Amino acid sequence: MAEQLIISVSGMRGIVGENLTDSVAADYGRAFGTFLKESCTEKKKLSVSTGRDSRPSGKQLLSAVAEGLCSVGIDVIDLGIATTPSVGIMLRELGCAGGVVITASHNPGQYNGIKLLLGNGVAPTSDSAKQIRQYYFDKHFDLEDSSDCGKITSSEQTDITHVNKVLAIIDRDKIAAKNFKVILDSVNGAGGRITKKLLAELGCEVFAINDEPTGLFAHAPEPISENLKGLCEIVKTEGADIGFAQDPDADRLAIVDEKGSYISEEYSLAFSAKYIFSKKTGKAATNLSTSRMIDDIAQKVGGQVIRTAVGEAHVAAAMFEHNCIIGGEGNGGVIDLRVGPIRDSLVGIALVLQLMAETGKTTSQLVDEIGGYYMKKDKFTADTSQAQQIFNLVKKAFADAKLDTTDGCRFDFEDGWLHLRASNTEPVIRIIVEARDRRTAKQYVDTVLRIRREVLD
Ligand code: MG
Repeated sequence: MAEQLIISVSGMRGIVGENLTDSVAADYGRAFGTFLKESCTEKKKLSVSTGRDSRPSGKQLLSAVAEGLCSVGIDVIDLGIATTPSVGIMLRELGCAGGVVITASHNPGQYNGIKLLLGNGVAPTSDSAKQIRQYYFDKHFDLEDSSDCGKITSSEQTDITHVNKVLAIIDRDKIAAKNFKVILDSVNGAGGRITKKLLAELGCEVFAINDEPTGLFAHAPEPISENLKGLCEIVKTEGADIGFAQDPDADRLAIVDEKGSYISEEYSLAFSAKYIFSKKTGKAATNLSTSRMIDDIAQKVGGQVIRTAVGEAHVAAAMFEHNCIIGGEGNGGVIDLRVGPIRDSLVGIALVLQLMAETGKTTSQLVDEIGGYYMKKDKFTADTSQAQQIFNLVKKAFADAKLDTTDGCRFDFEDGWLHLRASNTEPVIRIIVEARDRRTAKQYVDTVLRIRREVLD
């Protein structure tokens, strides 16, 4: 069966040339532009910033989206190859009504996608996303004639603007004094160019691999352990202080310690939070599937952690609402509102280096100090009705746990937690478990798997 074109809160994702074609992209641009015009109360010419990761299909798709936007009278300011957080920053700097990033994030090269951002730099809420989707299917397009169509310009200020915003939240001299040796793996995505600039500003000795934005990914692009063996090896052989890995649109960050070991991407947010909470107390926000490490860190200094549904828009909304000093998601996404309300690997890199500079500790020492958990993420198939039955039975089995049903079911126990979520896009349930040790985590998972067998058999 051919794969479906997925249209969700974060935008559209599909296989290029198969279900994601130029005409699909142009219509999606028209739908988004029409939505922006209808939601903007002021009568003025609107603009949208556009950027793309390095995939070879990106330029063509971006042209198609830009054509769609122009046809409904929206001006386009093209940033070329740019990270997702960079587009979020620039659209606000340039006073745009929205942003578009052509990226399929961590998905393999045959995929591409169209990620939408509103004028505040965050993905649309689910209601807005539904409306844009409906406009796309209904071909509800507020087309303009040739005298009022949009025009396309470009900006070359992206890297400098983004880097300066990151530099403003850290003490550059303290980091530069350490002259850290850093290995950077940007998987030939959008992150290489700008991240090398940031690291140079921070006085690091940089050894970059896969830093050409060819979009021909040197390894599977998700920054997880099995894909980063090459980076681990180079960190070891070069005797580097740390290794950083980004996904193709550079919103996610993973870390390799000075011994060449991949540490879980959960540590990107934990390290960042540790530094932020060492300077001030306040609130953090993260999703329900993220490690408890951030709670431990916040608790030590009287801070508080707000938990949200999975998805960066939910985390960003909570950060705005509670004026959070740090936030993000356990998949390596760090958000600092002073830079922008989007997961940003450059923010993560700067905060982690600052933590190392201020504590004088190595990456592995910082891991030991935080003290980790055993965590496992998995998924299994279940249709909507099976999922409901499973959820009900698991609730009964874990009746003593603290239950949060904001997004699926999250059960908190004394010695760990378990989160079950039904996917919006496929008939699967995701299961995330964390506990002090593997044995305890396995007990919780086994209970769920036993229930799943009962329901499915
Ligand atoms: Mg990404």
